[in-house]
Formats: sequence, structure tokens, C-alpha cells
Amino acid sequence: MDGAAAETLFERIIAGEIPADVVHQDEATFAFRDINPQARVHVLVVPRKRYRNVAELAAADPGLLADLLRSCRTVAGLEGIEETGYRVVFNTDADAGQTVFHVHAHVLGGEQLGLFGS
Ligand code: IMP
Repeated sequence: MDGAAAETLFERIIAGEIPADVVHQDEATFAFRDINPQARVHVLVVPRKRYRNVAELAAADPGLLADLLRSCRTVAGLEGIEETGYRVVFNTDADAGQTVFHVHAHVLGGEQLGLFGS
């Protein structure tokens, strides 16, 4: 965990300092709607404990990564897209366009999604 870095936007959302449309929360994770949705359903799922990206999370705490993925499935169920299908995306560092350096899964669905690419 990058404990020395300044607090991230998502820590402030988890703390309730910035309002969010919360979809699900549990002991380890927190899920809320993306402010700039890229699909009909676009929810961000974050671990309460901060890691910079999914690679750091996987290396440091694979159990928490599993918790995060379970929460993605829970969100898909709550949003009614578990049967129709959905995408889970982890943008990882600069070329992927990661802007918030507190690992988060994008859960996208509710419509036919386009192909990957730029
Ligand atoms: P990244 O580009 O993978 O780091 O994703 C960051 C995401 O956070 C983007 O999809 C933004 O739209 C989203 N975002 C930024 N600020 C907020 C906010 O205040 N509430 C909810 N989502 C946000």
C-alpha cells in the first residue's frame, strides 16, 4: 500500500466526505456509480484499503482481490446484469488512462458493449 501518498478521491468518497451513489458496501469493499458513465450500468468497485493498482493489490493481498471480484459479481446481481453479461476493467497506470491511483474495478454492462481499443 502506498501509505505515504496523499489521500485519494476514493478514500474521501468511502469516508462520506464526497457524496456518491452507493450501490453496495461490505467490510472490505465499496461500490458506487461512476460520475461519467460509459455504459448504462457503470459502477466502480474499490477495496477500502488502498493499493495503487490491481497489480500491487494482487501481489500484496490476493484475498482482498478475491473479495473485490466477489463484490463485482454482487454489483452485477444488484444491477440485474449477471445474466446478460458485463465487463470488469482495471485500468493500470498511464497508457490505460488510470486517473485515480486507488485500485478500482469498473463494472460495465446493461447494453451491448463495444470492442476494446483506444
Ligand atoms: P480510471 O480512469 O480508471 O482511474 O477511473 C476513474 C473513474 O473515476 C473515471 O471513470 C471517472 O469518471 C470516475 N470518477 C471521477 N470522479 C468521480 C466521483 O466523484 N464520483 C464517481 N466517479 C468518479
